[in-house]
Amino acid sequence: MKSHSASGIFSLVVDAYRAWAEIDLDALTHNLGEIRARLNPGVRVMLVVKADAYGHGAVAIAHHALRCGVSAFGVGTSAEALELRKAGVRARILVLGTIVDEEASAALRHGIEIGLHSLDRARLLDELCERLGERAKVHVKIDTGLGRLGVLPSKAIELLERIAGSRNLELGGVMTHMAGGGGMQDDFTHEQLRVFESVLATARERGLLRGWIHAANSACLFTGIEPQYDCVRPGISAYGVLPGALPGSDTLRPVMNLHSQVIFLKDVPAGAPIGYSGTWTASEPTRIATLPVGYNDGLAWRLGNKGEVLVRGRRARIVGRVSMDYTSIDVGHIPGVCVGDRVTIVGSQGAERITLEELADHVGTIPYELSCSVGKRVERVYKGGEEPLDPYSLVPRAPAAQVPHLPARLVPVADDVAAPERVARAAQS
Ligand SMILES: *Cc1c(COP(=O)(O)O)cnc(C)c1O
Repeated sequence: MKSHSASGIFSLVVDAYRAWAEIDLDALTHNLGEIRARLNPGVRVMLVVKADAYGHGAVAIAHHALRCGVSAFGVGTSAEALELRKAGVRARILVLGTIVDEEASAALRHGIEIGLHSLDRARLLDELCERLGERAKVHVKIDTGLGRLGVLPSKAIELLERIAGSRNLELGGVMTHMAGGGGMQDDFTHEQLRVFESVLATARERGLLRGWIHAANSACLFTGIEPQYDCVRPGISAYGVLPGALPGSDTLRPVMNLHSQVIFLKDVPAGAPIGYSGTWTASEPTRIATLPVGYNDGLAWRLGNKGEVLVRGRRARIVGRVSMDYTSIDVGHIPGVCVGDRVTIVGSQGAERITLEELADHVGTIPYELSCSVGKRVERVYKGGEEPLDPYSLVPRAPAAQVPHLPARLVPVADDVAAPERVARAAQS
């Protein structure tokens, strides 16, 4: 333990790490409450915890979210899903995009639900299930305009029929994902919803709909998407950020705070260069503090000579380039800075606050990238969480609409190339 000569209110927690992300579970509770406040009755929350919950630590976030009544989780890969299963999360987990073949058998064995967007992949899963004696729960993803994954609307019905005709595949849901960051403020989102609705209408007519229908990300939810369908898939808003300046940003509380500490101080003369390539030189004698945090920890390289951090409740400029493990700041204008002083990269000290949004604006990126890039050697320190939301308040009061499922019937499939060797390989993995 280190003694702090004068850190006062800034060292209530022992600053035992080079860099640490303080994860405020009470802020998560609060944000889930804000999400809940925007939900229609009966709509569930599938919390998106991909990329280690946007850098916040998926296991701890998921456990707390369950205590707050979240119904399911969306992840990016089956490894992320299995991490949650190993940590005892029994709730529904969906691999939002899709899996590579090699992930399939582990995903099936652990009841992980899988985004599905082609007949080819449907057949692969079907055959794999047959071998393993498992059933796959799949969510058909309709490409309504993001243009990335997803089955084209013109082929969606065929895929749904293929699933309905298989005894190994079960439809867990039908989903789409929006391209715009502005939710319902973007005209294109309305266009995407129209396309989604038309596929749903045909599927409903033919009795092909089962499971949860879902479309809304944070931006859609906070800009009043209708319908909300059976569940919504917020990610970033739960962590306290909204993309852009959408209504409701001010109601959210940031969950992640990123701190480091002063590890070295030195007084330099005018003209002293600082950092790689000497991109900054002192214009007058000043005091430079070195921080044991660099771009590998999530302090973006692009913040070199641009960003600011907080020390003793005041802003200090990052000088020179950010390096992999270290960053220098100019503290010449802040009296009394000591080795061991807490330095806040994201978060507040006294009246000063630096947000992920501010940092993202500074370097021309999005808050998502910054929180995801907080490195694995940065300790996550969790605080709060003693008072979760009433879990039942996030659980539907009315049952989600039940759509009758037609008796399974086999539909001939002719379009895609079977890949038996891939099936075999996946079965072994
Ligand atoms: C990441 C993701 C989300 C969550 O988006 P946010 O903007 O973080 O709310 C929802 N759905 C899918 C398919 C995603 O990939």
